[in-house]
Amino acid sequence: MRELSTKKITEAVRGLCIEANTNLSADVEVALNKALKDEESPNGREILRQLIHNAGIARKEKRPICQDTGSVVVFIELGQEIRLVDGSLEEAVNEGVSRGYTEGYLRKSIVSDPLRRQNTGDNAPAFTHVRLVPGDKLTINLMCKGGGAENCSAINFFKPTSSHDEISQFIIKTVELAGPNACPPVIVGVGIGGNFELAPLTAKKALLREIGHYNSDHDLAKWEKELLVKINRLGIGPMGLGGRATALAVNIETAPCHISQLPVAVNIECHAHRARKVEL
Ligand code: SF4
Repeated sequence: MRELSTKKITEAVRGLCIEANTNLSADVEVALNKALKDEESPNGREILRQLIHNAGIARKEKRPICQDTGSVVVFIELGQEIRLVDGSLEEAVNEGVSRGYTEGYLRKSIVSDPLRRQNTGDNAPAFTHVRLVPGDKLTINLMCKGGGAENCSAINFFKPTSSHDEISQFIIKTVELAGPNACPPVIVGVGIGGNFELAPLTAKKALLREIGHYNSDHDLAKWEKELLVKINRLGIGPMGLGGRATALAVNIETAPCHISQLPVAVNIECHAHRARKVEL
């Protein structure tokens, strides 16, 4: 067994929160620049220029890319041959979020109770998902998810006999209904299969795939490309002011499901896609 101190997890999470919020990842920036090249709408071009300029300022001055620094979603793959020492995993993650958001001067957006709305004051707790995997490594995928885009997400239960077109329409309609509220150009995470909890989780995990990489399944990759073309014909455009660039990518992931079911979840992510990964 390999021993791993949870203090290392806290330190990693702290760093990832600050890095993700201030340094737009390269794949998103490349996609925004490509969108600018392809954009025909003057408004759309201007917005894309501003988004790229804003990301540059954030990186240089180590300031948040957006005022909404999000809720922290953490996917942990924990190797079965690791023995965690120095405290609990969940507390270590939350301590990392607390320190990252406090020391990084990031906005604290989490309330402890959904109805009483008392801010926790440090952006903890995170939404943490742990999966046991073979080996002696611990991998953290962390995403800071803005509220506006998250609010535009949806789930639908199709019949197993539903057509490809019916599912496409639901995905496209979800992006259309989001309109400017999701701060486009968006990234569209699609989770097909699973059940009531797994479909949205699969959609969220789909957002972790780098822009420009398609599903390894040829049919799904083709579907991703088709959906992207159709979404970019909606005319919503950058920040909803009209144009071609409504989405930067559509990422589909699938999961096994019951014979009577075909759940489809769509998790929308804004242009300020803040995700980072580390292996300990
Ligand atoms: S949806 Fe994204 S870009 Fe828009 S306000 Fe929220 S975090 Fe910022």
